[in-house]
Amino acid sequence: MPRIRQQNVTAAQWSPNGEALGTLDLSDAEAFPFGANVFSPAVQKERLAKETYRNLQAVLDKGEALDPSLADEIAEAMKEWALEKGATHFTHMFQPLTGLTAEKHDSFFDPEGDGSAIAKFKGSELIQGEPDASSFPTGGIRATFEARGYTAWDPTSPAFILENPNGALLCIPTAFASWTGEALDAKVPLLRSMDALSKSAIRALRLLGDEESQRVFTSVGPEQEYFLIDEQYYFERPDLVTTGRTLFGAKPPKGHELDDHYFGSIPERVLACMLEAETEMAKLGIPVKTRHNEVAPGQYEIAPIYENSNVGSDHQQLTMQLLQSVARKYGLVCLLHEKPFAGVNGSGKHNNWSMGTDTGMNLMDPGDTPAENTSFLFFCAAVIQAVNKHQGLLRASVANIGQDHRLGANEAPPAIISIFLGAELEKVFNSIASGEGDPHTPGSFLELGASVLPPLPMHGGDRNRTSPFAFTGNKFEFRALGSSMSLAFPNTVLNTIVAEAIDDLADKLEAKGADDIPPAVAEIVGESYSANKQVCFGGDNYSEEWHAEAEQRGLKNLRTTPDALPEVISEPTIAAFSKYDVLSERELESRYEVWVEQYAITANTEAETTETIARTLLLPAALRHLALIDAADVPALAEEARPLVDELVAAIGELDRANVYPDGIEGLELAVYARDHQLAAMAKVREAADKLEAVVADELWPLPKYSEILFIK
Ligand code: ADP
Ligand code: MG
Repeated sequence: MPRIRQQNVTAAQWSPNGEALGTLDLSDAEAFPFGANVFSPAVQKERLAKETYRNLQAVLDKGEALDPSLADEIAEAMKEWALEKGATHFTHMFQPLTGLTAEKHDSFFDPEGDGSAIAKFKGSELIQGEPDASSFPTGGIRATFEARGYTAWDPTSPAFILENPNGALLCIPTAFASWTGEALDAKVPLLRSMDALSKSAIRALRLLGDEESQRVFTSVGPEQEYFLIDEQYYFERPDLVTTGRTLFGAKPPKGHELDDHYFGSIPERVLACMLEAETEMAKLGIPVKTRHNEVAPGQYEIAPIYENSNVGSDHQQLTMQLLQSVARKYGLVCLLHEKPFAGVNGSGKHNNWSMGTDTGMNLMDPGDTPAENTSFLFFCAAVIQAVNKHQGLLRASVANIGQDHRLGANEAPPAIISIFLGAELEKVFNSIASGEGDPHTPGSFLELGASVLPPLPMHGGDRNRTSPFAFTGNKFEFRALGSSMSLAFPNTVLNTIVAEAIDDLADKLEAKGADDIPPAVAEIVGESYSANKQVCFGGDNYSEEWHAEAEQRGLKNLRTTPDALPEVISEPTIAAFSKYDVLSERELESRYEVWVEQYAITANTEAETTETIARTLLLPAALRHLALIDAADVPALAEEARPLVDELVAAIGELDRANVYPDGIEGLELAVYARDHQLAAMAKVREAADKLEAVVADELWPLPKYSEILFIK
């Protein structure tokens, strides 16, 4: 079917076929549906016996285990509430190692034998599900004959109702484990890491003189980037449908060079879609806060207010799901791939991370009193130490095949992990480390103690958008995540490695047995900073010079996923994760195996899709174009086009050979093969095809072009 401009006209049409949101009287607090579909503490309080409610709250506040005898009552209340909301089914929602969300729906209704059915939901069904685990990746943890897996209710992440035009569903956030109790999901280790960090941080707080705090929570505030494109173009591109990214496409004459998109006014259709998506998120209690255009044409960002890591991570999964489902109501498709368009800015996710006590103190907030300073410096030094020691693992925690197009591609932080502290804070650490003074920090503070510890900057002042790990006032911003990723593993890593560093510094503080804590802390912080400051860098992370300097400093530069993943099973990773019971060696190995395999499978899918499209769509178009030229008998044009066709044919041949795996390779070796042979051959096919795109008659070219996909809204 030849392409005609009419298709673009069709794509540009839209009408609001989502829910008409109407105008609410927002001066009425009830009118805004925030949390309307959440089995929230407010709903629990209303519907549960006092004692049950209190017990459930203790689970949330102190991380205690729930008394199982209360499950029946909670299940009954949940069921009644869900039925009132129109739910016919319940599902244990979990995050298997695919990184996606999995759900299996069970009806509330049981037949009664007399032709009628009644709604039932037992406590045991709430607490535990038993999905067939055989189709989820386990990296060898579960033999295929042992198909059983368990999902276990996570009462710390509230249950909610997911609406569908034709019904509703009670969703119960759950953890997923094998029958031997090994984690097969993203949530189990995240929860374990939050416990670990809390224990270490409380221990340190006691040493620092805090007798009140009982628990430390880690928080996450994710900034999510994504593309919205018209669904017509999406379905006209087999590469987008199959792989989530375009495998072909010449750079459009207009890109983001004009910087006219970032923070620009949001197109009406897109805004309509965002408004509905955000209303759906609000119903689920996701505290969405900001939205704006991003750098690339067709690219946007959404960010909620931060929440505890577990809830924030569950909400992030839902956010991605809702962005995708609501987009379709507006004739749009939401692309979460890290690099949907070559040569155009890709999408990432900024993971704002901090830790705070149940008494309301943010341990990453410098504060303005000396006592707060002492604890801030202690915990901040622990973060620096952790990031330096486990830089490779942090890099691995954000590795996937899509990221390999982004990290280090002059649009995202490089694959080298470094920390930006800001000039002020760096000065403070340097002066503590050297024991010398500077204009802001009296030189004698080490001897004199707390009263002269430096006043710390509330906001590091300057910003550095190129840094993968930046201190931003009262939190660290881990900026290297990919847009399609679950937050769970990067935060699991952060929590675990910081717990380890906190304990290390606490051991040293304890060993000193000092009566006067602040000077002892200053000494330990100074030593730790001196030993780890190689990871701190305030300059341009995108520059060539940094790559050279980082190498000199001995920092790791793990460019691709196959380079990075072995860090997941490195000796320091295994030691830290075992020490804190976050993941055993076997559990780490299973993850490593699954991720390596996913890389190879995805690369192969892309390679085969590239070959098919090149052979069956693009080459025939080019041949038709050649025939046109020959018929017109214009030798100059033939001279131009024929070599490009030859180039494409040769490249397809090479890719075809690369797509046959050599005998007997598997695991990491296969991933490396895919990277070095399949992806390399794909690049050549694409290069030839993209040159042809600029030459072949437009009506013969079978794929919509970047200039259409990205600009017609
Ligand atoms: P930007 O990085 O663009 O300046 P903001 O400062 O508004 O953006 O914050 C971005 C994200 O960081 C938001 O999700 C916000 O809720 C979150 N955030 C703010 N403070 C903290 C904190 N203490 N811990 C974790 N996340 C936080
Ligand atoms: Mg930010």
